[in-house]
Amino acid sequence: MIRKTLIILTIFCSMNMLNAQNPFLENYQTPHGTVPFNRIKTAHYKPAILEGISQQNKQIEAIINNPNRPTFENTIEAYERSGELLDRVSIVFDNLLSAETNDDLQKLAQEIMPMLSEHSNNLTLNEKLFARVKAVYVQKEGLNLNTEQKKLLEDIYDGFVSHGANLEGEAKEAYRKLSQTLSKLTLDYEENNLKEVNTYQLLLTSKADLKGLPETAIEAAQETAKSKGAEGWMFTLDAPSYIPFITYADNRALREKLYLAYSSKCSHNNGCNNLDLVKQIVNTKMEIAQLLGYKDYASYALRNRMAQTSEAVYKLLNQLIEAYKPTAQREYEEVQALARQEQGANFRLMPWDWSYYSNKLKDQKYNINTELLRPYFELSQVKKGVFGLAEKLYGITFKKNSDIPVYHPEVDAYEVFDKDGTFLAVLYTDFHPRAGKRSGAWMTCYKEQWVEKENGTKDINSRPHVSIVMNFTKPTENKPALLTFDEVETFLHEFGHSLHGMFANSTYRSLSGTNVYRDFVELPSQIMENFAIEKEFLNTFAKHYQTGENLPDEWIERIVNAANFNVAYACLRQVSLGLLDMAWYTRTSSFDGDVQAYEKAAWKSAQILPVVDGTSMSTQFSHIFAGGYAAGYYSYKWAEVLDADAFALFKEKGLFNAEVAGAFRREILSKGGTEHPMVLYKRFRGEEPSIRALLKRNGIN
Ligand SMILES: [Zn+2]
Repeated sequence: MIRKTLIILTIFCSMNMLNAQNPFLENYQTPHGTVPFNRIKTAHYKPAILEGISQQNKQIEAIINNPNRPTFENTIEAYERSGELLDRVSIVFDNLLSAETNDDLQKLAQEIMPMLSEHSNNLTLNEKLFARVKAVYVQKEGLNLNTEQKKLLEDIYDGFVSHGANLEGEAKEAYRKLSQTLSKLTLDYEENNLKEVNTYQLLLTSKADLKGLPETAIEAAQETAKSKGAEGWMFTLDAPSYIPFITYADNRALREKLYLAYSSKCSHNNGCNNLDLVKQIVNTKMEIAQLLGYKDYASYALRNRMAQTSEAVYKLLNQLIEAYKPTAQREYEEVQALARQEQGANFRLMPWDWSYYSNKLKDQKYNINTELLRPYFELSQVKKGVFGLAEKLYGITFKKNSDIPVYHPEVDAYEVFDKDGTFLAVLYTDFHPRAGKRSGAWMTCYKEQWVEKENGTKDINSRPHVSIVMNFTKPTENKPALLTFDEVETFLHEFGHSLHGMFANSTYRSLSGTNVYRDFVELPSQIMENFAIEKEFLNTFAKHYQTGENLPDEWIERIVNAANFNVAYACLRQVSLGLLDMAWYTRTSSFDGDVQAYEKAAWKSAQILPVVDGTSMSTQFSHIFAGGYAAGYYSYKWAEVLDADAFALFKEKGLFNAEVAGAFRREILSKGGTEHPMVLYKRFRGEEPSIRALLKRNGIN
């Protein structure tokens, strides 16, 4: 995944020296002007943020009060380049809240986050500022702007308009009320979800009920029970507790019980019910979209996505159903056959049996033991492999620099040099879990890339400072960090995002690097995952950390084969969620029907497992009801189509083909959001993407 800060904006303003001790308010005296983490204290954030807000407000006032008529330079560019200080502080604050937080920082966030969101609202609601932006926008064809300038103008204009800036009188008031309603509804929705997950407990007191579970899951359940003052083993609806149970527990009745609890979250009469909120959120979003002149919410959301229209989204989803359904049906039957061998000929495979028997079948077919692979994936070797891959493809090199300050001793900082030796970027790596770091893996920036004019004349390319943060297996006293295969894939994924950041070469920061449309942003990351199952690549680094012997060919083959295990079922599962999302957000009239019935009808064509009454996805689908994925869930499959289609060119021309890599860098990685992604993609690939390469990769005919 990638992270972005909330604030759009940028550059240069004279540093007010009112707080000389505050490192944020000084020019950073560090290599490449990197963040002086060693000098930053919690007390520095708030004054620096307040100063940053005040500076940007002055910059905005200056734009508004400019006596000259609005031009691209004095309005659009000036707005883009405002708020440099605020950005440099909030980017550090925001990143450390995820990577190295503590109680003080969390407490401070409660105070600072509302300040930042109020400031950002004040900007988009500033009518005088919008009037100037619009004055430039309406004459955009006559302004002789280059492609990137035009895109910047359109994006900035859209940023105002999509928040109701073009509305007047009653409509504007209606928009304001609907937005407020929506944020309250989504908060309630999310809160109910959290409450439900935190309240549910399955306490087991008989050891026999734990049969089949791995030791780690049993220990964790014991700890959970203990922390709640109970004896025995407690399982919850949290993924790390739920997933092992549903995958390994031999006791079918308990699997069913936990599955039903999980799949009916927020649909009971227990004070956490989301059924009504689903209707209200769907209806409110539809009203907002229609107020802004769109037919439905999907059309509004898709205005800045690569797919562009609902038709294109449905086309993809339906193509995938048609291609994968027969295989998915076969996969289901194969899992059911195994279950029947164990349970008798009349056994009917239900949703709570799927993970359990799938996992058994996978073991039987491929016998890939995660633990056996680990010794071949020692972290420092993997790092050599991944950095080496970038060197092979792009000629870039990585040099560790211990003089660059870091926010934790486990973090390393590298200088990255281009193939001609020029400085390209700083890359921070942060690999292991610890208290204060949230779970998951992500890429982020401490400084993005842009071009500025020195003394108003010479172009200076301000190079990016990129960071990748993971939660990989830690080293122990006797063993170095030995990764799982999944962790190797995750490394490649985040590293792919980091290349998008490091190769950035735009003029404007808000169009630079990973600042691209949501359904395009995972292409650079996912394409890198393809290398993980290539023998040619694995052989460059996957060696036993003690004996030095290569990862045996036979195991590589098993990894490759297992990669497609139940791939069609998984695809249809994603497609069904995409269909549900689109069904809610392509509505053109308000909904007051039966949520669960509507849901079942919406994804029927992609359903493989028997449908169970009383279950409900919409009441717990935070991605689309509380997160940013409304009318966007299809993006996961969309990006997969892109990465398979793009990687097919490497497969065709050679895995490490420098020419293909060069084109990928030139047309995609360096371009950020300066042009529409379909234009960029076609320039790289010569044509629009098709699902053919994905089908081939997945072994679907
Ligand atoms: Zn990602």
